[in-house]
Amino acid sequence: AQILALLLELRKQLNTAMLLITHDLGVIAGTCERMVVLQDGKLIEEGRTREVFANCKAEATRKMIESGIWGRPNELAVVTGETALTVSELAVSFRPHGGWSRKRLQAVMPMSFTLSRGETVAIVGESGSGKTSLARAVLGLIPEHAGTISFLGRYLENAVTRRAGSAKRQLQMVFQDPVGSLNPAMRVSSIVGEPLWIHEPAMSTRDRTKAAADMLVEVGLDEAFMDRFPHELSGGQAQRVAIARALIVRPAVIVCDEAVAALDNTIKRDILALLKREQDRSNLAIVFISHDLGIVRQISDRVIVLYMGRVVEEGETESLFARPQHPYTRALIDAVPVADPDVVPGNVPVAGEVSSLSDPPPGCVFHPRCTYALDDCRTAIPDLQGTEPARIACHRADELDLSGN
Ligand code: SF4
Repeated sequence: AQILALLLELRKQLNTAMLLITHDLGVIAGTCERMVVLQDGKLIEEGRTREVFANCKAEATRKMIESGIWGRPNELAVVTGETALTVSELAVSFRPHGGWSRKRLQAVMPMSFTLSRGETVAIVGESGSGKTSLARAVLGLIPEHAGTISFLGRYLENAVTRRAGSAKRQLQMVFQDPVGSLNPAMRVSSIVGEPLWIHEPAMSTRDRTKAAADMLVEVGLDEAFMDRFPHELSGGQAQRVAIARALIVRPAVIVCDEAVAALDNTIKRDILALLKREQDRSNLAIVFISHDLGIVRQISDRVIVLYMGRVVEEGETESLFARPQHPYTRALIDAVPVADPDVVPGNVPVAGEVSSLSDPPPGCVFHPRCTYALDDCRTAIPDLQGTEPARIACHRADELDLSGN
C-alpha cells in the first residue's frame, strides 16, 4: 500500500505516465484509469477500468474480476475440539552476521497458541514479523529454539532429525516458492511418491506409483503430469504438486507458508478450495501464514497477528475483521486492495517500516508507527491480555474504536 501510494504521488508530481503490470485486480481498481487484459499472449479486453469492471466482455476478464473479490468466508471448518498442536512459550533468536556476533536477535518472543483438529489458524504480519521463523521452529527446522511444542498430546523434539517418523509424517509444510521447493532433478511421480517411500518403506513401487497418480488427480492434475520435471510446470501446477506431496501421507497438520502468495487470483482460489476440501475430508488442521488479509479472511477460523516477533492481537476471523482492537491489525486490514473502482483508496494505512530487530524500540514496539501512541506507549511494554481465542496487547485497547464504522 505504501509503494502504490508513493507511485501515485510521483506520477502526479512528475506528470509521468505509468504502466502497471499486475494480476491483482484490487490494485488495478484503486490505481488505473484504463486497463488491458491479456490471455495467452493476446489482448482480449481493453477499456476504462470502471467500465470493464461493470461490464466486461470477455469471460476470462469476468473470472478474474470475480476471483479478485474476496468476500466473507463461505463456510468455516467444523472444529472438533481435539487439540492437534500446542505451542508453549516458543521463542526463536539467532546470531546475525553469519553467527559471528555475540548478541542474539530475538525473531520470535515467547509465544503460546493451540491449534485444533479441523481448524485453520492464520498467522499474519509484514516481512520481518517472525511468521516464517515461527513456522520453521514448529516444523523442527530451527532446532535451537526455546519453549515446547506438543503434537496430538505428545512432546515433540526441537530438531526434525530427532523427531519420531510418525510425528514427521503427520506434520507437513508447503512453501511459498512452488517451483523452488521441488527437487529439479526428480519427476513429479517421484516427488509426490517420495514421502511414502520414507514413511511406508514396505509399500511396493507399483502401489506407491498408483497412490501418487491418485493424489495428483485429487489435487486437480491428471496422470500425464507424472513424468514431468518441475521446470515444465506452471506456478499453479507446481504448487498443486507440492500440496500433493504434503497430503499423500495424510497429515494431521499442514503449515502453509505464503503458499498462494505468488499465484494468480483464479489459481489462488482453486488452491484454497483444494485445502478446504481436504480439511473437510480428513479433519486436517492448517496453519496458514500470510501477509494477505483478503485471503486470510477467506480461509481461516482464527487469526494471530504478529509484529516484530510478538503476538499483538488474536481473534476469531469475523470478529477480528469487524472489530480489530490493535491499530496494527486495523492497518493490515486497510491495506487490502479493494477490487472495486468506485472505492476511493484511503490514506496509507500505516507509515514507516518495521524497526530493526537489533534495536527494537522501548515500550510498545509498534509505537513509532502508531498514530494513537501516548507517553505510556513509549516506555511500558503492553502485556498480551485475554485468553485464546481473543487476546490483545495494546495499552489503549479498551478506549479505541477501530471498527471502521
Ligand atoms: Fe499504539 Fe500504544 Fe497500542 Fe502500541 S500500545 S499499539 S503504541 S496505542
